[in-house]
Amino acid sequence: MTKTIQADYLIVGAGASGMAFADTLLAESAVSIILVDKEHKPGGHWNHAYSFVTLHQPSSFYGVSSKELSRGVIDKVGLNKGLNELASGAQVNAYYDDLMHEVFLPSGRVHYFPRCEYLGNGLIKSLVTGKKFNVTFQKLVDSTYYKTSIPATHTPAFHIDHDVNFIPPNDLPYLSSPIQGVTIIGGGKTAIDSCLWLLEQGVPADNIMWVMPRDAWFIDRKNTQPSSEFFFDTIGAQALQMEAIAESTSMPDMFLRLEKAGVFLRLDTQVLPKMFHGATISQKELAQIQQIKNVIRQGRVVSLHKDKMQFEQSEVALPIGQTVVDCTASAITNLEISQVFANDTITLQTVRSYQPVFSASFIAHIELAYQDIEKKNNLCRVVPLPNHDFDWVELTYKNMMNQFFWSKEPGLKKWLQNNRLDGFMKMVSAVKFYEFKKLAVLNRMRKAAKPAITKLKLYKSELD
Ligand SMILES: Cc1cc2nc3c(=O)[nH]c(=O)nc-3n(C[C@H](O)[C@H](O)[C@H](O)COP(=O)(O)OP(=O)(O)OC[C@H]3O[C@@H](n4cnc5c(N)ncnc54)[C@H](O)[C@@H]3O)c2cc1C
Repeated sequence: MTKTIQADYLIVGAGASGMAFADTLLAESAVSIILVDKEHKPGGHWNHAYSFVTLHQPSSFYGVSSKELSRGVIDKVGLNKGLNELASGAQVNAYYDDLMHEVFLPSGRVHYFPRCEYLGNGLIKSLVTGKKFNVTFQKLVDSTYYKTSIPATHTPAFHIDHDVNFIPPNDLPYLSSPIQGVTIIGGGKTAIDSCLWLLEQGVPADNIMWVMPRDAWFIDRKNTQPSSEFFFDTIGAQALQMEAIAESTSMPDMFLRLEKAGVFLRLDTQVLPKMFHGATISQKELAQIQQIKNVIRQGRVVSLHKDKMQFEQSEVALPIGQTVVDCTASAITNLEISQVFANDTITLQTVRSYQPVFSASFIAHIELAYQDIEKKNNLCRVVPLPNHDFDWVELTYKNMMNQFFWSKEPGLKKWLQNNRLDGFMKMVSAVKFYEFKKLAVLNRMRKAAKPAITKLKLYKSELD
C-alpha cells in the first residue's frame, strides 16, 4: 500500500458520464478529482464497441461541454446523408483519449487511475499489478449506476449449444468465410446497426433472419438536428409532438398521432411497438431495414441449438451454416431510480430524456452552484430511461417539468445556452424578432405545452 491520495471528488467511471461530470467540475471550479476506471482508456463501454458503430444522435451534442466533437459536417453520402455527422466509435475513443491527455491531466487537478477498480471504502486496486491505493475525498460520484451492458462484454440470458456459430457484432467484419445466412437476435439499435452493415456489404435481405422479441418505436434523426438550418425539423417536431399529445384521446391514440406527425417511426406499420429505448434512426436507414422480411416475432429466445431456436411457446428452424449475431445486450440494465444527491454521494442519472452526457454536466453544475441538498435534488429530478412504449409518458412528463423548473431558476437559462451538450436551447434563443415563421412554430409549441402536460398527467395516473 502506498501513501494516501487526496482529492475533493472521487469519480468512479471514466465513461461518457464520468468524463462530462469531471469536465464541468474542472471548468467551473478549482476542485481536484480522482478518476478511476476498470478500462485502460477513458470512454467506458466505447472501448469495446463494434467497429461499425456510430453515435445515433449528432456528434455536436455528445462528449463533454468544453471540447467539440463534431467537425461541423453535414454527411454527403450514406444513410445519414443530409444530416449532421455521427462520430464513429473510433472517433469517440480518440476524443476521450485526447481530452484526458490534453485537458484533464495537464490541468494538474486530475489524478487518473486507468485499469483500476474502486473497491469501496477509499480503496482502489490496480487490475494490472494488484497494487492497492488509499484515497480520501469529500464526495463520491458514481457514474456506474446504470450498469451499461454491450454485446462484447455481456452474458446472454439464454442457453447456447457449443456448436452454434454465435458471435457478437464485433466479429462480423472479421469472419474468415463468406456469410451464407445470418440470424440477428435483438430489436434494438445494435441489431439495426448489424442489419445495416450486412446489407451495406451486399448480403441479400432474404439471407437475413431477424429475431424481434419486441418491436420498438424509433425517433426520426431528422428531428434531432441541432443546427439552425434544421430549425423547422427539430423545433417543428417539438411543436408537432406537443400538439399530438394535447389532441390525443387515449394513450394508444397518442402514439399513432405521434407517428402521423413524424415524431416516431416503426419497422412495420402492421405491428404495434411495445418497446421504446430512444433508438434514433434516419428514414434512409429505416427503408433499408424494411427490406428484411423474415422477421421472427415469437418473443425471447430461450435456447439456441445448431438446427433450431427455442422460444417459450414455439421453435424456429435454423438453416445449416447460420451465423447467429448476439444483439441482446440491453444497454441499460438498471432502471431503478435513485436520488441524485445523497449525503456525500452523487449518483449520475438522466435529468433530460435519454441525454446522459448533458445530464452529467448539468448535475456537476448544480453541485457547484447550489448548497442546499433538497434544492439540488429538486433541480435534478430523474427523467427515467425508458423500456416499454408507455414509459415514454412518464419520461416526457418529467422532462417537461424539469424544463419548467429550470426556466424559473435565475442564471440557469444562460448556463444552458452556453453548454455545448444542450443541443437545442441555442437554436431557440437565436430566433430573431423578425423571423415570423420560426416565432409561429415557437408559439404553437408553447400553446400546446399546457394541454399536453395535462394529458400526460392523466395518462400517467392511468398507468400508476
Ligand atoms: C452503441 C451505443 C450508441 C450510443 N449512442 C448515443 C448517442 O448518440 N447519444 C447519446 O446521448 N447517447 C448514446 N448512447 C448512450 C450513452 O451516451 C452511452 O451509453 C454512454 O457512453 C454511457 O456512458 P456511461 O459513462 O454512463 O457508462 P459506461 O460507458 O458504462 O461507463 C462506466 C464506466 O465505469 C467503470 N466502472 C464500473 N464499475 C467500476 C468500479 N468499481 N471501479 C472502477 N471503474 C468502474 C466501467 O469500467 C466503465 O468504463 C449510446 C450507447 C450505445 C451502447
